[in-house]
Amino acid sequence: MPRSPLQDLDSADVGPVIRTDDPRYEQARQVWNGCVNRRPAAVVRPSSTEQVARALRATVGMGVPLAIRGGGHALPGFGTCDDGVVLDLVNMRDVVIDADHRIATVGGGTTWGDLDRASQQHGLATTGGLVSTTGVAGLTLGGGIGWLTRAHGLACDNLLSVELVTAAGEIVEASHASNPELFWALRGGGGNFGVVTSFRFRLYPVTRVYGGVAMWPIEATAEVGVAYAAWADRLDDAHTTMLGLVTVPDVGDMPADLRGRTAVAVVGCHVGSQADAVEQWQELRALSPSLDHVGDMDYLALQSMFDDDFPAGGRYYFTGGFAHELSQELLAAVSRCHADRPSAGCEIDIHHMGGAAARVSEADSAYAGRNAAYTFNIIAGWENASDDAAHQAWGRASRERLQPFFTDTTYVNFVTDTTEASHIYGTQRYQRLQQVKRAWDPANAFRLNQNITP
Ligand code: FAD
Repeated sequence: MPRSPLQDLDSADVGPVIRTDDPRYEQARQVWNGCVNRRPAAVVRPSSTEQVARALRATVGMGVPLAIRGGGHALPGFGTCDDGVVLDLVNMRDVVIDADHRIATVGGGTTWGDLDRASQQHGLATTGGLVSTTGVAGLTLGGGIGWLTRAHGLACDNLLSVELVTAAGEIVEASHASNPELFWALRGGGGNFGVVTSFRFRLYPVTRVYGGVAMWPIEATAEVGVAYAAWADRLDDAHTTMLGLVTVPDVGDMPADLRGRTAVAVVGCHVGSQADAVEQWQELRALSPSLDHVGDMDYLALQSMFDDDFPAGGRYYFTGGFAHELSQELLAAVSRCHADRPSAGCEIDIHHMGGAAARVSEADSAYAGRNAAYTFNIIAGWENASDDAAHQAWGRASRERLQPFFTDTTYVNFVTDTTEASHIYGTQRYQRLQQVKRAWDPANAFRLNQNITP
């Protein structure tokens, strides 16, 4: 009997290999987005760089799809596949904090919750995602927007080096000094170039922050939006904020004029002096928010504030874009999109960028939105498969309507439709990414991503 290529995995010392008849299989095949329903032939869970290298040597070139999973949050479900192998790094979540040098070294399957909890024990943090279950790997390799973006840059801007296993099963380091062109591509180019088994991040002193959420009834969107845009322009770099059109839960502790209704929200995080933060918030407080949950808070609390709003297994569609300004016309278009939403699970978030993220030069990394003042995230979340089409259509239509206000690149991590990656990066950056791809993955073994074709 000829051996199946995947049988080699069983004798390759790669960690647990979960196949379709394993009781763990149903859970192991799933990723965060419940719209994704794929059945891999095997889910491999290595716990060391050597095991990752052995798994790649046993898999690459065998003609089967290969999915790499960090936190499993990629909207298109890149962390799983049909009939192929999933390399799931869930057992590689060690976090080592060097408090003296303010450096975190984390495994390729670490979540932001893992990293934040460990670094906060030393009063330190680095820019990470807004939901604590998201993977460090995918978020950082795509760029990485969080509450410290304006103070300390994108997640990828704080990357000092990575350890990576190539398609050939070779272990290499990438940093400004070592394989610098690969390091350039890894900061924005996604999971196209190899499996990152370890990330080293710069950390900053952060403990208490001045942050939280303020909300107004949806009718105030134009007034609050215009005031927000002017306010955001003047904020100091310690202050990262976001404007959102959302639906308020119908629960008792919400103000009566917001409960179960749509609202305009401003969420923020200030990591400088509280006196400065209070002064800056005075201006928005003068607009009399119905809900004002902004104040001194624990950084960890802020970092998990939205966790419950995005449960794993729900059905989701994200899309987005970059914009240079938040004009009245754009705000009006956003309001119209939001008004047309098919259900309460749809929101539009507008992240204010700039600050430290904009001080990194456009050419320094593959991230495609350095000069944008705002990053948009159009989010649809729902429960039943019968509602898929309506929600996905709303997301796509909203993006179409807002496209005239957007730049010609977009944020790779907010794209659900698998798309021609040159549209994400723009032609020049894409061609440079292709050169790196040809050097490190010429056969395109890592293609379950927003793919850069060699
Ligand atoms: P995965 O699906 O595991 O991986 C994403 C991509 O990276 C895949 O192509 C995968 O193959 C590749 N990959 C994963 N691990 C590795 C590795 N170790 N080495 C090489 N390649 C790897 N983005 C932001 O910028 N800021 C936010 O605040 C934010 N919040 C979010 C909240 C939610 C609830 C969700 C669902 C997404 C959010 N995102 C945010 C988008 C997020 O950055 C992307 O979904 C990202 O892909 C998640 O990374 P992951 O490791 O969890 O996903």
